[in-house]
Amino acid sequence: MNNILDFTAQMLGVQDLKVIHTYVNNGIFTVCAMPSTISGICPKCGCTTETIHDVRVQDYIHLPIWGTKTVLVLPIFRLECKCDPDHPFDLRYSFIREYQRQTIPYEIYIYNLCKQNTIENVCLLEGISHGKCQRIFNHYAQEEIDSRPSKKVRFIGIDDLARRKGHNYNTAVYDLETHSVIAMFRGRTKEDVIAYFKHLSEEFRNDIEAAAMDMSRSYCNGVLETLPNAKPVIDRFHVSQLLHDQVDDARKHIQNKVRKEEGDKQKVFGIRWALLKNFEDLEADEMNRLFKVCDEYPELGECFAIKEEFRKFFKINTKENAAAFIDYFKELVEESQIPELLSFNQTLDHWREYILNYYDCKISNGPTEGFNHKIKNIKRRAYGYRNDKNFEIRVKLECA
Ligand SMILES: [Zn+2]
Repeated sequence: MNNILDFTAQMLGVQDLKVIHTYVNNGIFTVCAMPSTISGICPKCGCTTETIHDVRVQDYIHLPIWGTKTVLVLPIFRLECKCDPDHPFDLRYSFIREYQRQTIPYEIYIYNLCKQNTIENVCLLEGISHGKCQRIFNHYAQEEIDSRPSKKVRFIGIDDLARRKGHNYNTAVYDLETHSVIAMFRGRTKEDVIAYFKHLSEEFRNDIEAAAMDMSRSYCNGVLETLPNAKPVIDRFHVSQLLHDQVDDARKHIQNKVRKEEGDKQKVFGIRWALLKNFEDLEADEMNRLFKVCDEYPELGECFAIKEEFRKFFKINTKENAAAFIDYFKELVEESQIPELLSFNQTLDHWREYILNYYDCKISNGPTEGFNHKIKNIKRRAYGYRNDKNFEIRVKLECA
């Protein structure tokens, strides 16, 4: 027994290897080893055989030992069985995946490096090719994603992604209970949504009870056509955002009229922020200016009052009250006869059922909004992903 060789065998950290000899050349630690037993199970008949047909030698990158790049040189035996001697089979090592030129412990080491670094950095650090590094990362990332406890997905969020040059995903689908990204796909039309959901199993589609979204007809119709039990749920926050946009449009409208009639653009323009602020957040001077302008142009005052009134919607807890509130609010708008707000009323009519669905299942895309930022960061870190699949795997791994 050679103690150094036994010690090296232990340092390798893989089972059933006998180290024959080692040497260091050009800063690479080379370990030549043998399996401790040469026998295998015939894949055809299941018998154990020890008959060697032929042998060749292959080297594999292994974990660095004491910081030194380590290569494992192993014999690859082909064994033959009595049942079919003309077709030998490879004696496989448990710590090497098929068709790989590195050991599993080394791959896991690379994978963990990749989780904390960009693929580019790991390639530079380890001196391995980008393709190899990416393949290793994808394999273990997919394994990790697949090993997550699979729970029924009941509540999804569907939202568009800020599309930036270099990647083609426009839509993300989230599991709102686990706060994770289920999928990203190209496009944001109804057809894109239908194509995505159609490729999922019927069981998966049937399980979905509700889908949160903003007021997008293509998302809504796509969900209605492919998810038989899913209620579309419109986020109240998006409804209120739309109201703010309409109030702002109304302000511009009045501002243009004032400019034409009085030649003064600045007066109305000057209150553009104040008009959209919550009443209690106004500074004293903002309030003075706002009220002065609103006195002069009562339509602006109405806009402000109506916008403030809508905030009560967020305090409502029952579907019945919410429905009553929408009717009440629409009347206020109708009395104002402000065209931009009347078009908001139409939006309320169109989305009414789905806005009210919120009171049946209180879901929203709010909690996933941070993902949009995270996804952008992932992209920035990798200098833009050119490969959609690689990007998607990274997003799914990190956005969970
Ligand atoms: Zn056999």
